[in-house]
Amino acid sequence: MKIFKFGGASVSSAKAINNAASITGMFPGKKAVVVSAMGKTTNAMEDLVKSYFQRDDNTSNIFNKIREYHFEIISDLDFDANEKNKVKYLFNELSERLETEPSLDFNYEYDQVVCYGELISTTIISILFNKKGVLNEWVDIRKCLRTDDTYREAVVDWDRSERLINNTFNFTDTDLYITQGFIGSTITNQTTTLGREGSDFSAAILGNALHVNSVTIWKNVPGILNGDPEDFSDTEKIEEMSYKEAIELAYSGAKVIHPKTIKPLRNKNIPLFVKPFDAPDQEGTVIHQVGHLLDLVPVYILKKNQVLVTVSPTDFSFIGVDQLYEVFNLMKKRRVKVNIIQQSAIDLSLSIDEPETGLDELVEELGQHFEVKYNTGLVLTTIRFYNDEALEKIKNNKKVLLEQKSRRTARLIVK
Ligand code: ASP
Ligand code: MG
Repeated sequence: MKIFKFGGASVSSAKAINNAASITGMFPGKKAVVVSAMGKTTNAMEDLVKSYFQRDDNTSNIFNKIREYHFEIISDLDFDANEKNKVKYLFNELSERLETEPSLDFNYEYDQVVCYGELISTTIISILFNKKGVLNEWVDIRKCLRTDDTYREAVVDWDRSERLINNTFNFTDTDLYITQGFIGSTITNQTTTLGREGSDFSAAILGNALHVNSVTIWKNVPGILNGDPEDFSDTEKIEEMSYKEAIELAYSGAKVIHPKTIKPLRNKNIPLFVKPFDAPDQEGTVIHQVGHLLDLVPVYILKKNQVLVTVSPTDFSFIGVDQLYEVFNLMKKRRVKVNIIQQSAIDLSLSIDEPETGLDELVEELGQHFEVKYNTGLVLTTIRFYNDEALEKIKNNKKVLLEQKSRRTARLIVK
């Protein structure tokens, strides 16, 4: 049994969806296919829910654009009236929701709206695969992937989900299931999401629950590279990697896999392949248990939109456990991700992901007990297996605001 995952880019057009069908058909055996929303749909859905929540006049405009994008694709895929109706039905459901008054909880409304990206993409893909003879059953993952009610960052209820996933994905009437990444539901059937880019994690959850032989993420890159080709011109593909190395990279901000993906696979020793969807015969990268030491080239990971915040207690006391507690408690409350910390006697510096909103409030709240300085628009560069040449490449003519080195990893905040 295998899990395949197709991300937004691998299902962003009629051509891409046809290719996904060919790839799925090429590999025999029992499979569950996890799919994201098409192309940049989740971004558009985010705009939609913001507009809906703020009650501005753009809602129907944004809705129509999303609808048009999908209907262009299904017209290229030659859907008949009956097939089109299944997609129309979902858009009607969404449109009805947008007619009602939103609740006061933005995160809740977000999940109820944004989930349609995946519901719609999987509906289209399931129909197209069946038309092409890649026979499959569509599953609404919300009936088995159960979570708590932390909307937008839901926590998986593993025991319940494992049981329900095994009941649903029983392979009695089909060898192939198609289902949504990124979404789940509470025990009271409210839709939740697992955090942006969460479809990889969904694939890993299914892989773990079903005890599969492998999980494959199909991507528009040859495998895992030692840097993002958007930032570096001379990237190299990495053939194999240990689970630990993969966690380090993903956590540092390598966009190639979601950081939560590795743990559920490692725990059941399931290999994860990252393969190019335009060359399915190529090896890609495999992440698995590695017994020997790997000789890896320096790997560069950039995390953009960083804010470097430096706080010092206004009463000139030292930075101690109490001060750390206060600062981190505040970060937790505001769900701010802290990527790096450094302290001296009276200064504590943290690099955080720039929050979408609320940076001013955060600074104000910190300002009640600390003197606060901050810089925005910075880049956190992590170099695994750094050497002098690699450090030079990053520092070259740039201003370094903070630098940390351990045996294997160097991390720099640069302007
Ligand atoms: N569609 C979701 C997102 O763009 C989940 C995913 O693609 O993994 O964040
Ligand atoms: Mg994606």
